[in-house]
Amino acid sequence: MTEEMFRRDAYAKSCEAEVVAVDDTGVRLDRTVFYPTGGGQPGDRGVLEPLDGSEAVRIVDTKKGVEHGEIVHVTEGPVPPTLVGTKVRAVIDWERRYRLMRTHTLLHLLCSVIPAGVTGGSVREGTGRLDFDLPESTLDKEQLTAALNCLVEENHAVKPRWISDAELKAQPELVRTMSVKPPMGQGEVRLLEIEGVDLQPCGGTHVASTGEIGPVRVTKIEKKGKHNRRVNVALADAGTV
Ligand SMILES: [Zn+2]
Repeated sequence: MTEEMFRRDAYAKSCEAEVVAVDDTGVRLDRTVFYPTGGGQPGDRGVLEPLDGSEAVRIVDTKKGVEHGEIVHVTEGPVPPTLVGTKVRAVIDWERRYRLMRTHTLLHLLCSVIPAGVTGGSVREGTGRLDFDLPESTLDKEQLTAALNCLVEENHAVKPRWISDAELKAQPELVRTMSVKPPMGQGEVRLLEIEGVDLQPCGGTHVASTGEIGPVRVTKIEKKGKHNRRVNVALADAGTV
């Protein structure tokens, strides 16, 4: 199992680690700050810098491995097997990750201002979307934008909280996302709490307070089927979308 440094500290930009395996799918480390694709959030990019000064290895994506709890750092090309046993500094592309963290946290705010089940979603760099189980469109772009910016300005604290599988089972209303089941079976489930706003299971990476998201806007509301409304959002500094 890869030790997941990003679970406790989403702001960790690098860590020292040992290469435990190399194959044509990528590099496995004993611990990592790289977030693997999951929960609608893309995997991290960055570099592995060998501590002996040899050439750095560029990581273009991060994925969950086939084995439980294993994380694969996807490389651009083949990596020599001699890398196994080497100590490296694993460094993520922090600028990109921080934008993903801001966008991801924004989607939690979006979820809190629309009282409907979430059937899907995706986080990109600066833009994101959620699909809501809504039969008719009662959603207003300007109203939603104002509500989201209000929550950003109020600067609510964002923090993870762990509860047991049994506690979560007793509170099924915590699970807003209908398509993504929370990862149960490990004894405890990670919840993400935005104080006074939202509480739901989530294993992604988030900013520490909603103020860090900065100004945002709802860019488009689309009808995607009879019972589906797709709401697209963007960070104001994400450029034209
Ligand atoms: Zn989340």
